[in-house]
Amino acid sequence: MPTELTIEAAMIELNRLKTTERMDIDRERLTAAIDVLKDAARFRIERKPINPTYGNIKCDCPNCFSSVYYATDLFCRKCGQALDWSSL
Ligand SMILES: [Zn+2]
Repeated sequence: MPTELTIEAAMIELNRLKTTERMDIDRERLTAAIDVLKDAARFRIERKPINPTYGNIKCDCPNCFSSVYYATDLFCRKCGQALDWSSL
């Protein structure tokens, strides 16, 4: 059963690696921390919007499928996914 961690708790967990001298690391908790931070970082990687309509002005978020707009949205307003509008 994976440990539930907030992003902040996961960062604290990883920072402990920098200061700990002994290798008595809770691997399950460390793995959970890495997964939480990977999931958070995923949204920072730009993805191309999908299903363009109205000449690419309106598209769908590639992550949550809610509407995103070329003129205003560098990120999805619902899920925070970073959007890459180049060469649509
Ligand atoms: Zn989204």
